[in-house]
Amino acid sequence: MPRFWIANRQLIRAINRSTVLNIIKADGPISRTEIGRLSGLSPATVSEITADLIAEGLIYEKAAGDSTGGRPPILLALNHDAAYVVGLKLAERQISAALTDIEATILCTLTVPVTGMTVVERAVEELAGAVERVITESSLPRERVTGVGIGLAGVIDAERGLCRYSPILGWRDVPLEQLVEEQIGIPVRIDNDVNTLAMAEKWFGAGQGVDDFLVVTVGRGVGLGIVVNGQFYRGTRGGGGEFGHTVMDPHGPACDCGKRGCLEAYVADPALVRAAREAVLQGKLGSVDADELTVEQVTELAREGDETLREILAQAGRMLGMGIANLVNIFNPALIIISGEGVRAGDLLFGPMREAVAQYAFDSLVEDTEIVVQEWGDEAWAWGAASLVLQEIYKSPIHARVPAVSLSMPAT
Ligand SMILES: [Zn+2]
Repeated sequence: MPRFWIANRQLIRAINRSTVLNIIKADGPISRTEIGRLSGLSPATVSEITADLIAEGLIYEKAAGDSTGGRPPILLALNHDAAYVVGLKLAERQISAALTDIEATILCTLTVPVTGMTVVERAVEELAGAVERVITESSLPRERVTGVGIGLAGVIDAERGLCRYSPILGWRDVPLEQLVEEQIGIPVRIDNDVNTLAMAEKWFGAGQGVDDFLVVTVGRGVGLGIVVNGQFYRGTRGGGGEFGHTVMDPHGPACDCGKRGCLEAYVADPALVRAAREAVLQGKLGSVDADELTVEQVTELAREGDETLREILAQAGRMLGMGIANLVNIFNPALIIISGEGVRAGDLLFGPMREAVAQYAFDSLVEDTEIVVQEWGDEAWAWGAASLVLQEIYKSPIHARVPAVSLSMPAT
């Protein structure tokens, strides 16, 4: 990003273009007059910009709106067909993929079980293979897919396309963006998986129109995406938001990161399974095989009424709530979206979490923050990764990188 911005005519025009496009995205189909009213732009400017957007194939003139006697107004709408992208989530044992249109509507998904992802070359092969498969299954011509987004856990330098550190995969300084791009010949963007989910929420989900919100994910780990003043906060080199490794008790259980008492060590899936195993070994869980125990089983048995497991989830919920109370005190967000596989535990986890938030955060700040627990779908991570690419179409040029998606329509 340049050190100083000079608002020349070109930049002003680009900002206005982004404004018009976002109004059509949020409120379309919409008339030019209404766009002018909402944006404050002159009719001439609105006409010019919408003509450009039509020429680019991003929007189109839709059949006339309701006639009130006079000439019915022509409405403008987003052209769903303008761009298709693929989103990929890379995890230890699976890659999930989704192909979406320009509004992040999922057209096709698939899940590929994988092994050996600690080997970078192998991961690149599998990612490239997943892209080809999801495109084939969608029946779209390959050239219509103009960008690929990849989300993965860890410290990601999104500007440089670099996975700086992935504790789960054991990677350090892997130029994943470039490696996959070379393999598939389609522009690629990578980012931390929780950030991609936050982007999806900001542009296409519950965070639309909210300036200050957080996304907290619970599952294999505990993640945090931060949106402040409508912008993503990443820290100086992309490492911000390691909420899961905030220390709750320096003498607490060991964490994957090598330290002790991190929030993750109480709340993430492995922690829940570990606590449940201990309960089995103490004879508190009847005829359950400790070695075979999974987090899905823990949740299921708790839901069926097992008191020991309910208390394990409640304890995790209280720890999570304490951590979230700290976030409320630091950020004073309007909204906290809870997402990730861990939402399957429902009120067993989030009831105690809400109580702890109310108990530990400043009273007046608690009232400012709405906490929403999302319904979880397995395609959500891939949907997030697709949004990583799509957001570049919508965001203001002041915050844009060189777009990963080309918007030129193929010749028909
Ligand atoms: Zn840790």
